[in-house]
Amino acid sequence: MATIEHDLAMELIAKDGYYLNDPRVQRIVEYTNGWGGKSYGVTWQGENRDRYRESEFVIKPRVIWDDQWPAHYRCPHCGAVSFNANDIAHDYCGQCKQWKDDAP
Ligand SMILES: [Zn+2]
Repeated sequence: MATIEHDLAMELIAKDGYYLNDPRVQRIVEYTNGWGGKSYGVTWQGENRDRYRESEFVIKPRVIWDDQWPAHYRCPHCGAVSFNANDIAHDYCGQCKQWKDDAP
């Protein structure tokens, strides 16, 4: 499985799944690894999109980006993703109740 660092995961998300000349990423999953730390798993085109499933080493997997997601708003404060049209239109996060331009 391809595991990447937090910074690269965030860069991939910012670049809509593209990095250098690599093929586009399909999905990025954040999970707790077997040692209790945060890990980021990537699946590339041609791989099984669902390969990061709950297991002894992949705890509480959460999809944080997917190339098939419709339009969405990603909160810069807490990282939550919303598919709500109002949240998207106003850059508002229903999870942490902050606007995009609110001070961190
Ligand atoms: Zn938020």
